[in-house]
Amino acid sequence: MVHAIRIHEHGGPEVLRWDEIEVGEPGPGQVRIRQTAVGLNYIDTYHRSGAYKLPDLPAVIGMAGSGVVEALGPDVTTLKVGDRVGYAMSIGAYAESRLIAADRLVPLPSWLDEQATAATLLQGLTAQYLLRSTYVVQPGDTILVQAAAGGVGLLLCSWARHLGATVIGTVGSEEKAELAKAHGCHHTIDYTREDFVARVKELTDGKGVPVVYDGVGKTTFIKGLDCLRPRGLMVLFGAASGAPAPLDLGLLAAKGSLYVTRPTLATYTAKREDLMASAADLFDAVKNGGVTFTVNQRFALKDTADAHRALESRATTGSTVLVP
Ligand code: NDP
Repeated sequence: MVHAIRIHEHGGPEVLRWDEIEVGEPGPGQVRIRQTAVGLNYIDTYHRSGAYKLPDLPAVIGMAGSGVVEALGPDVTTLKVGDRVGYAMSIGAYAESRLIAADRLVPLPSWLDEQATAATLLQGLTAQYLLRSTYVVQPGDTILVQAAAGGVGLLLCSWARHLGATVIGTVGSEEKAELAKAHGCHHTIDYTREDFVARVKELTDGKGVPVVYDGVGKTTFIKGLDCLRPRGLMVLFGAASGAPAPLDLGLLAAKGSLYVTRPTLATYTAKREDLMASAADLFDAVKNGGVTFTVNQRFALKDTADAHRALESRATTGSTVLVP
């Protein structure tokens, strides 16, 4: 038996329970890992609240972690007991130990810290596909990142700057502005006090940006369309403030033949080769100094409810690790 954080019903942070569960032996294609660290991601709050409903309860939630392989399924030949591995987008992470499909695991280079990787892998792979695939950021681009001091936000800022872009980032406080700047953001806008559309227009000489990366959603999405230059791309990748209202497609014509996409990491890493290529690109960007893994909060796994409260009240910056 091991400890895990499970939900028995959807709801607030109080539904996160510290339960004992049986993990069992790995089946075909699976391994069991002893987890040394678990990542906290915004999607965990959607699974908890029911914004994303789970079909079978009780369930262990959490999507990312890292640890050490401790048992192999009968046919698994690509890994061995003792290997250090990490993963993202595999539900069931909030546990001391878990079963997982071997083809979802990324071997960790020896120089990567397991806690930092668990906390940042999902967010790092997200920054990778957003900057390198959804819209390919070019040197000389000026881009807008919403919630620039968050987990994904800081990674987007540092990586986009490394790619030669000028980064404008929105933030919820002066401290967050300083942090975003320290991670590569050239211009910050406190969108709780300032009109971010007017500031983006000012900073781009009225032209607008080619791409907006928006993980905030409800409070920023429609206004963000006004920050785009003609034929610009709105990348709505999350809904920290809630889901935006349905979009009238006519607006895209009226505002300059705009594009909108609502991507998810699951699609971009569904094939093993895509997952491995994305991870290799991320690890390379970290090793060569362009991107930093910033873990600013640590909670014991049993205190995950406190971590959810902090994340949802905008009290966190960068990434957060849960320690089993
Ligand atoms: P963050 O660390 O960015 O936390 C969310 C931030 O959003 C807050 O710190 C806050 O920053 C800002 N925010 C603005 N309004 C609100 C609000 N009403 N309530 C709470 N937060 C608010 O989280 P993550 O880095 O984990 O995730 C960022 C976004 O990316 C999320 O929407 C998540 O779902 C999405 N995501 C999407 C993926 C995909 O593939 N589609 C994959 C990974 C993440 P401030 O105070 O500065 O405004």
